[in-house]
Amino acid sequence: MDNCLFCKIIKGEIPSTKVFENDQVFAFKDINPQTPFHVLVVPKKHVSSVAEIDQLSNDEIAACLLAIRQIATSESSLSGGFRIISNCGVDACQSVPHLHFHILGGTRMAERMA
Ligand code: 5GP
Ligand code: ZN
Repeated sequence: MDNCLFCKIIKGEIPSTKVFENDQVFAFKDINPQTPFHVLVVPKKHVSSVAEIDQLSNDEIAACLLAIRQIATSESSLSGGFRIISNCGVDACQSVPHLHFHILGGTRMAERMA
């Protein structure tokens, strides 16, 4: 999608610190990390959020979760665990309307999630 920030990052039109890429998925460091480790995992195909995830193939959906696993298992600071968040819509404060999964970790997080 032409005017989408994360589509531009995927295409390399906006710089990012890439941590993973394959045919279906791109992952990069969040510009404003909320935990010591904070990476965003996005499908290369543009869909706005989990609310539109039916527009991805099962393979593309699985690729996102498998990328999360691969990133997490190769990152020593996540050996004690990590959290995945995907904000969806206004009430969840989603600010970029391209589906993404936050991987948060590298510290002990609060039990309360919101
Ligand atoms: P959301 O609020 O939609 O769940 O998450 C969007 C995330 O994208 C935020 O954590 C924000 O810091 C991150 N972000 C926004 N703009 C950029 C950018 O230009 N580059 C990178 N790497 N992350 C960004
Ligand atoms: Zn997009």
